[in-house]
Amino acid sequence: MTPAACVIGWPVEHSRSPLIHNYWLKACGVAGEYRREAVPPDRFGDFLQSLAGRGYRGANLIFPHKEAALAWSEPDDRARAVGAANTLWLDGVLRATNTDVEGFLDNLDACAPGWDASGGTAVVLGAGGAARAVVYGLLERGIPRVIVINRTTARAQALQQWFGAPVRIAAWDERDRWLGEAKILVNATKLGMPGQPDLVLDIGRLPADAAVADLVYVPLITPLLRAAMARALRTADGLGMLLRQAVPQFQLWFGKKPEITSELRGLLEENLSHPLPRDQE
Ligand code: NAP
Repeated sequence: MTPAACVIGWPVEHSRSPLIHNYWLKACGVAGEYRREAVPPDRFGDFLQSLAGRGYRGANLIFPHKEAALAWSEPDDRARAVGAANTLWLDGVLRATNTDVEGFLDNLDACAPGWDASGGTAVVLGAGGAARAVVYGLLERGIPRVIVINRTTARAQALQQWFGAPVRIAAWDERDRWLGEAKILVNATKLGMPGQPDLVLDIGRLPADAAVADLVYVPLITPLLRAAMARALRTADGLGMLLRQAVPQFQLWFGKKPEITSELRGLLEENLSHPLPRDQE
């Protein structure tokens, strides 16, 4: 049977993961397939139970499934510690891990070399599955204080309880107030994506040595990144993270280490320059 994997989300049309993995399948000479699967939350469990029957050896998870996945799989230590998974693979049982953590950190290291929030504060907007990976990664790097700011307070509180003392929460309406002490600002909400409102933020308050990361990659240069660039702040875009979190996924499913080439990045940038998702796989 042709080895196959998929990205599962709701919605999933915007995902550029098929472009990435199908590019690597060709580049690595693997006769496999990678597809999109639009699965609503109430069909998620059933879908995972039928993964093997559908011919899949693994899957990439996007919203809103990352946290729910833990109940349907055998999470590794990383996924368990983050409280969310973005990667599933079948190995007798359905296993789960989280490659968003290394995707986020590797991208930040590459795009904002020397970024340093040791002794400082990180501000993370959002408290969903992706925000969990970001907070985990920042704490792993020794950031002493992470302020989590989310529209829904209960979700921010759950994240605060999960990670404990270094994480504090602040109200969504007070987000500008915390920017003045942020060594790093991360947008891990959906704001800025097509069909979503813009992220309204007073970037002028950030210190001149702050780094800004946006997990949103449609559009490639979000209004947040544009505003940060206009201030000459160091920035890390969502596409770099998307590419980096995908490398270990491909290895797990197809057994070869793929390369992030300038050709692949160029293809994605070209694709993202179109207002509507286009399939290129
Ligand atoms: P999720 O679990 O569904 O969480 C969504 C987050 O966005 C929540 O914090 C939610 O707040 C917030 N949000 C949604 N609509 C909002 C609004 N109108 N105003 C304020 N906040 C709003 O999704 P996720 O998996 O964490 O993904 C979050 C973002 O990260 C998405 O844009 C996704 O594409 C991106 N991402 C990118 C990468 C990458 O590799 N570049 C990897 C992972 C995720 P509430 O709790 O109040 O609903």
